[in-house]
Parts: sequence; C-alpha cells; structure tokens
Amino acid sequence: MQKRSLSLASPIGHSLAGIVCALAGSPRSGGFWRWICFGIFAGIAADLDFIPGLLVGDVNKYHHGLSHSITAALIFGLMASYLSRWLQASAFRIGLVGMLGYGSHLLLDYLTYDGRAPYGIPLFWPLDDHYWSSPYPIFVGIKHGVPGDALTESVIQGLSWHNLYAIGVELALVPVVLLVWYLRYFKKPRLR
Ligand SMILES: [Zn+2]
Repeated sequence: MQKRSLSLASPIGHSLAGIVCALAGSPRSGGFWRWICFGIFAGIAADLDFIPGLLVGDVNKYHHGLSHSITAALIFGLMASYLSRWLQASAFRIGLVGMLGYGSHLLLDYLTYDGRAPYGIPLFWPLDDHYWSSPYPIFVGIKHGVPGDALTESVIQGLSWHNLYAIGVELALVPVVLLVWYLRYFKKPRLR
C-alpha cells in the first residue's frame, strides 16, 4: 500500500527540461554533446539534496529544501560560468543557461503534484520561507517515500507502476526537445 507520497518530477523529466535550455542557449559552434551533458546536470542538480539524506540513512530528509530556490539557481549559474573553457562559450552565456536549466527544475517541481506537507518548494528562500506549489499541477509526481522511511521503502515506492505512468506524462517534453533542436540547429544555416 502506498498511502503516503512525496512527489517530484523524475530525473528523466528534469533532464529533458535541462536539455531544452541547453539547446536553446548553446552557441551552435561545437561541443554539442557537452552542452547536452551540461543541460542534464543543470536540470537535475537541485535533487542532489538526496545525497546528504542518503548519507544519514533517511534519503528524503533534506529533499525539497534550499536547493529548490531561485537563490540556489543563481549560485549554480555563477559557479557554472567557470566552465567556459570546457563548453567553448562565454562565461555569461554559460551562467545564463545554467541558471535557466536549474530554474527549469524549479518550474517542473512547481508544476508537479506534491502529496506531502509542506507542499511545494521554498522558491524565494531566504526572502520568504513560504513553500510554493501550483494550484494546477501538470505533472503527477514520482513516489519515493517520505522523511523517516527506510531506504528499502523508498526504493519499493520508486519502482511503482505509478512512477512509470508519471514518467510517461513527462515524456511529453520530448517533442519540445526535438522542436528546440530543430529550430536551433537546422532552421537557419550555420554561420562559419
Ligand atoms: Zn526537485
């Protein structure tokens, strides 16, 4: 029985949203796959807040905390700007795409049904401690247990049919990825 749930978009949904941002902001002059990797990392980075919980044996303990704020997105963008050599683009461009990719995670979580208090994410921390969640969620959310659950319980919930369905809904982002890819890389001739 899974009467309780703490919901979020899956890493697949977050990766797709991050890729959209990376493709939209990449310079089109090389490093395509690096930009894809960067987009995926920016898209899922906020959920690295599972790691400290994993270390203390309560994987959900710190989830949906400060990493799910606009402040964290700004910090991520500033740190990402140091990757300009690896991504062969200006620090400003990378910082901006990093913020957008990270921000896409916040947007997706905001638009995802959250079945557990405090319902949503602390978007405007530290200015405001309020948790924000869309009154009209689009995504159904992934079940992965609640704080206090053993790791096995979280894994069992993670492998549910519900989650497969939730990922299926998120795959609606695939056409968006393809559209942005087409518009960015094929619509106009490349400038050499
Ligand atoms: Zn998240």
